[in-house]
Amino acid sequence: MPELPEVETMCRGIGDVIGQTIVSVATPRRTRRPSPISPPPRRLATELLGQRIEAIERVGKRAVLHLRPSRASASARLVIEPRMTGLLLRVPPPTEQHVRLIVEFQAGGPPLTFWDRRGLGTIRLLDAATFATRCGPPLIGPDALSLRGDWLYEAIHASQRSIKVALLDQRVTAGIGNIYAAEILFAAGVDPRSRCCRLSRAVCDSLARHCRRILQRAIRLEGSSIGDETYRTADNRPGRFQRCHQVYGQTDAACPRCGATIRRIVQAQRSTWFCPGCQRRR
Ligand SMILES: [Zn+2]
Repeated sequence: MPELPEVETMCRGIGDVIGQTIVSVATPRRTRRPSPISPPPRRLATELLGQRIEAIERVGKRAVLHLRPSRASASARLVIEPRMTGLLLRVPPPTEQHVRLIVEFQAGGPPLTFWDRRGLGTIRLLDAATFATRCGPPLIGPDALSLRGDWLYEAIHASQRSIKVALLDQRVTAGIGNIYAAEILFAAGVDPRSRCCRLSRAVCDSLARHCRRILQRAIRLEGSSIGDETYRTADNRPGRFQRCHQVYGQTDAACPRCGATIRRIVQAQRSTWFCPGCQRRR
């Protein structure tokens, strides 16, 4: 599932569409599970025509295209959330069947394609005010790439839930999913089952520092392509950060730090991997 580093890589990979004007929008329906598109496809196409892409921004795990209308209507945001298997591509897609959106530009060149095998990703066109409500605080917390220990401590210190579950909560910090939560907790030596209220300010500082470092490194390596290799960059290459995973997906392997056996447990219906030898429960 694309998390912060993967979506950041997608946003950078489609950066050449900034400044381009949309001349064609298609939303093919070739699967039994069409992607959620709002407004409905025909109206989305009508509203996008003639708009210019002013900027691309990542908000948590979403790609946001800022649009400038040709007519005197309010400025809008096209919000694409890849969810499980969505990809933003500037090259031909892996399959034709799972293409969800094709946007073509006045200047020609390759289209911008949203491809999604499982069809759980969403495409939404929002006016600026609605965007601020749906994709801003309190629903979306501070970005994990600039997470600070004092913010984290403030957000979680009164909570009884486990730190792993809190790190996945996009209201606490935006962008972390299952892969990076496991890697951050390993790097900081914190057992994922530790209750938030037991974590000191110093532990929160350490978590925030490792969070920024791991996410920055994962962006440099263009994200993690794991398992079914669904995640690809905008030019259809796999990421390389999966080679750096220390615990994620490493059931029964030896911990690279202390040699103990890495365990898999389930928290809030999601797998978590950790080292019982060097991740201390608090
Ligand atoms: Zn260990």
